[in-house]
Amino acid sequence: GQTIAGVFSTSTHGSGINYGPLAGQAVSLTIVASGGRTVRVEPERGITNPQAWATRYPEIELVQDDDWFNACQVGLGCMGIIYSVILRVQPKYFLNEQRTLSNWFQVRQDLQNGQVLREHAHYEVLVNPYSTLPGGNHLCLVTTRNPVPAPDGFTEPSHRNILIELAASVPGPSDLLLAALNTFPNLTPAIVDGAMKAIVGEYIDRSYRVYNIGMANNVPAYGSEIGFPMDSYLEAIDRILDIAAVRQLLGQAYLNSPFSMRFVKASPAHLSMMEGVDTCMVEFISLDRTIGGKEILQELETEMYAYGGRPHWGLLNFLSAGSGLVEAMYPLLPRWQAVRCELDPDRRFANAFTERCGLTPLAFQR
Ligand SMILES: Cc1cc2nc3c(=O)[nH]c(=O)nc-3n(C[C@H](O)[C@H](O)[C@H](O)COP(=O)(O)OP(=O)(O)OC[C@H]3O[C@@H](n4cnc5c(N)ncnc54)[C@H](O)[C@@H]3O)c2cc1C
Repeated sequence: GQTIAGVFSTSTHGSGINYGPLAGQAVSLTIVASGGRTVRVEPERGITNPQAWATRYPEIELVQDDDWFNACQVGLGCMGIIYSVILRVQPKYFLNEQRTLSNWFQVRQDLQNGQVLREHAHYEVLVNPYSTLPGGNHLCLVTTRNPVPAPDGFTEPSHRNILIELAASVPGPSDLLLAALNTFPNLTPAIVDGAMKAIVGEYIDRSYRVYNIGMANNVPAYGSEIGFPMDSYLEAIDRILDIAAVRQLLGQAYLNSPFSMRFVKASPAHLSMMEGVDTCMVEFISLDRTIGGKEILQELETEMYAYGGRPHWGLLNFLSAGSGLVEAMYPLLPRWQAVRCELDPDRRFANAFTERCGLTPLAFQR
């Protein structure tokens, strides 16, 4: 499963324009850096009293500095080992989740208006990449989640759609589905519609149970996700639908799941996909071993750079250090690098991925 340090380090997020990525809930991070140097990193005027700390833990340095904190929140493992975190939390609460069918023309209009993002605590959309509705329209599933008082007489257990849970929990059905999709790819649009229709409904439970999408997490799959600024995401979606249509026509590759749109508040973390701007995150998921699946994800990612799309660090991506791409995507990268060089001057925490992306460059001297 996912760990708190892993989701912080990759700017993992949920959906609600008033909520930033999970790393934004941190108020204090303790990191064991290169050579065993141990540092507690907090924003300026953080929660720790510097005098009391120095007396009690003289061996652990306290750094209260916004730049350090914003670098370490999303550190991709390059700052050292996150040994402990202190999180801002709230008491558990109840959520009402509503899943309703809609269509892309309607959803696009609602999003342009923006009210749906303000009136729901959580709002997300699944979109069938392929047109199955008249006039070139696409089926969508809108999910809203809002806090509600504890329902009278609430008793456990409450469940999501039990049939879907069962289908996702046994390996056979996903293998059969994959075989069908690889053999008859032109069935994909109808199967994607069917999957969305199957999960329409209402679910009320404690928040942490509603956020858990259940056995669907166990389906063998891979995904990529791209974050767009709020002023370009609708045009980006139009382009994604065009690309999917061309690929469908050529019969080369299908996205075999609906793609999701989620909304996340801006983050000050230097390398967050949401750095500096409220963001729409668009996620593409394919069953493992889908023929042509990764090729279409690569095409989507590279086409989306032109719309300001920043790929999720913690999912499949095709980023590379070439042509100044990552520097252009992340204008605060030099400030992140300055903190990284302090914490890991010997590049002990560099790895093949951070080298591929140019995050941990080699120093060249002659
Ligand atoms: C089923 C599933 C559902 C997902 N859902 C979402 C979602 O809803 N939203 C979303 O945004 N993403 C989602 N993701 C992506 C996921 O959150 C990221 O891939 C995340 O990084 C996974 O956390 P992990 O603990 O497995 O980290 P890993 O993949 O192990 O590591 C990720 C990064 O964190 C660093 N790291 C890990 N532990 C430490 C540590 N102790 N100290 C310092 N650095 C560390 C690693 O070096 C690496 O750079 C999902 C992934 C899966 C598999």
